[in-house]
Amino acid sequence: MTWEERWHPLREEWIIVAAHRQHRPWNGETVEHEETRLPDYVANCYLCPGNMRVSGKHNDPYTSTFVFDNDHPCVGFNAPQELSSPGGIYRNRPAVGISRVVCYSPLHNVALAELEIAEIEMLLRVWREQYIEIGRHQEINHILIFENKGEVVGVSNPHPHCQIYATNFVFKTIETEARVSGRHLAETGRVLFQDVLRAEQEDGRRIIFENETAIAFLPYFARYAYECYVAPKYAHANLVTFSDSELRDFAAALKALVVKYDNLWRRPFPYVMTLHQAPTDGGDYRGFHFHIEFHPPLRRPTLLKYLAGPEIGGGNFLSDTAPEEKAAELRVQPDIHYKQMPQETNYNTTGDKPCAP
Ligand SMILES: [Zn+2]
Ligand SMILES: [Zn+2]
Repeated sequence: MTWEERWHPLREEWIIVAAHRQHRPWNGETVEHEETRLPDYVANCYLCPGNMRVSGKHNDPYTSTFVFDNDHPCVGFNAPQELSSPGGIYRNRPAVGISRVVCYSPLHNVALAELEIAEIEMLLRVWREQYIEIGRHQEINHILIFENKGEVVGVSNPHPHCQIYATNFVFKTIETEARVSGRHLAETGRVLFQDVLRAEQEDGRRIIFENETAIAFLPYFARYAYECYVAPKYAHANLVTFSDSELRDFAAALKALVVKYDNLWRRPFPYVMTLHQAPTDGGDYRGFHFHIEFHPPLRRPTLLKYLAGPEIGGGNFLSDTAPEEKAAELRVQPDIHYKQMPQETNYNTTGDKPCAP
């Protein structure tokens, strides 16, 4: 039974873990999921190579990754500059920034989990180039790179892609992480995230994958049932200072996690993936440790984590699951993506032994 409050050291908030209330282990029931076979090219997909987008521009006939300016930018240098004053204590300002889209692959029907490690490594390099290039703009203070995956998080186009929101402000979560990490460094001389990694390695139960320089884990303080982090073991503030071997190791860790996600219920696993990298506002971020966070919205194949009174109304999370149990489910998943497994291999949902189809 897990019934306690856990401290989230990066957000500085409590999470109520009340796993005793719905202590019903996943019973192996198979939920129908119709796997539709998609073609690798779709003529009316605005992300496929060579196709025309809503702006009338054509995508490059790209063969690996492709970056373009979002046709529906939420922030842009062409946002209205002349704004009427709202009056009183209210404030406003132009929504200055850069919005881009990054296609992972020319193939319409592959997901991050199905890319080769070398392709994911290439994607990491693209993210790094974007961070360097966009970060040079004086007006840009932070670059948020994220992937919304699955219809349950509002994405209907399966073509593998992520988005970049480069803004004149630092997104709240990163601002908090940066502030807390800076204070921890000043007080202890240590990088806060390194202390998190040390705690995870000492416990060991929540580590999903590990190689020489990278690690994937479901943190002690997870707010979502299958929330996981992927991080380098050495404290880099962003991708810029990664060595070639660290990039490769990180790509392998990222791949391992998303493969296990898909294997868990043998279906594409929806998530919100976000790169947490140091702001580009010229501040001192020696205490910041780059990582990627995954926030999967599902608790079970058909059950969403609803954000309600505690989360939306109060701002703290209530978790109905024990991180150690959810990590155990992921740890036992095979490393080969289910779509690439031999047809006759039918893993049960705990993945610990194959069973007859
Ligand atoms: Zn497409
Ligand atoms: Zn973070």
